[in-house]
Amino acid sequence: MLTRTNIKNGDELSILGFGCMRFPMKGPSIDEERSIAMIRDAIDKGVNYFDTAYPYHAGKSEPLLGKALEGGYRERVKIATKLPHYMVNSLEGAKKIFKNQCTKLKTEYIDYYMFHMLSDKSNFDRMVKMGIMEWLDQLKQEGVVKNIGFSFHGGKTDFEEIVKAYPWDFCQIQYNYLDENNQATRSGLQLAHSLGMPVIVMEPLRGGRLVDNLPEEVLKAFKDYDEKPSPAEWALRWIWNHPEVTVILSGMSNEEQLEENIRIASTAKANDLTDEEMSVFDKVKSIILEKTKVPCTACNYCMPCPFGVNIPGCLSVYNDKYLLGKKGIRMKYLQTMGMMAKNPAIASLCTECGKCEGHCPQNIEIRKELKTVKKELEGVFFKPVVAVLRKVMKR
Ligand code: SF4
Ligand code: SF4
Repeated sequence: MLTRTNIKNGDELSILGFGCMRFPMKGPSIDEERSIAMIRDAIDKGVNYFDTAYPYHAGKSEPLLGKALEGGYRERVKIATKLPHYMVNSLEGAKKIFKNQCTKLKTEYIDYYMFHMLSDKSNFDRMVKMGIMEWLDQLKQEGVVKNIGFSFHGGKTDFEEIVKAYPWDFCQIQYNYLDENNQATRSGLQLAHSLGMPVIVMEPLRGGRLVDNLPEEVLKAFKDYDEKPSPAEWALRWIWNHPEVTVILSGMSNEEQLEENIRIASTAKANDLTDEEMSVFDKVKSIILEKTKVPCTACNYCMPCPFGVNIPGCLSVYNDKYLLGKKGIRMKYLQTMGMMAKNPAIASLCTECGKCEGHCPQNIEIRKELKTVKKELEGVFFKPVVAVLRKVMKR
């Protein structure tokens, strides 16, 4: 496992960080045994940065990580977790959440503590008004919080304002070969680095879309250059090629992904890609951008919808229609939305209440997009056809 040095405090961090938002599942619950085994295996193979958050896995991620780090593992790693500022209305409220997080994580201190998902400076100003920064500074002095940072989903200008608003110890941004000019952007990455802070990268594979849903033309472009690397390897190497990046977080859901990422992270160095390899990315980017309709990363922050819409599922199938072609797309929509299940989660359930949109880090106009999904993937014959199918299937 390669490491990179935190330019602010000298911590040696594994370049691969374990994102704790996509643990393997057993039915509706986290597969605890497998997840703990994966976490400990990762540590034994050199991963020393673990990123979780208060709401991940509906509040179950932090306790799972805390449990996995018992028995001497805690001391070998850095824990990163997040203050859900959108749930905080007072300093007392923030203190309560922090205490709860330390209890769930079974730890006396948090190595990397950040505001979760700042999107513009008003989020930060709200925290300042409540006295949260003084409190965090105090926790840092006491050694209860080692580093104070923020994770960011928003536009470039907002990022620039926030990154300069406080002497942050680190920041976390979405960055991958499709987002070079999106969200914080490459210039935001460079700005944070120039201000002397390590940058942690999230969504390196855009919620798996840079692996699972790639068009044939993209796979061909990669393979024409070199048969061996997987799309995930291409994507991760592109990010690690940036010397300004300290850690990439990967939300690994199975042992194979963990093994592959550890293998890649044992050789991926900064400034390693050749001009020829970079030109492969130029080709790939233009193919994907031409075909992508909605920039959903499947982060699930908009969920649950009170009316039962599977928002990321709807958007994913809609994107697939343009990325992978129309063949079989309605069947895929039926399957993804659980049409034969008791409560199908289709776009037409949307009442346009708007509850979801404020939570979307990609600023997607979810209501508008769902209307399009309904029009393109459901259409007028959809409900009668589904009713017949359900009757035939005795549902
Ligand atoms: S706007 Fe539609 S999708 Fe969003 S929460 Fe409301 S009903 Fe659900
Ligand atoms: S619509 Fe937005 S919040 Fe919902 S899953 Fe997609 S990117 Fe995440």
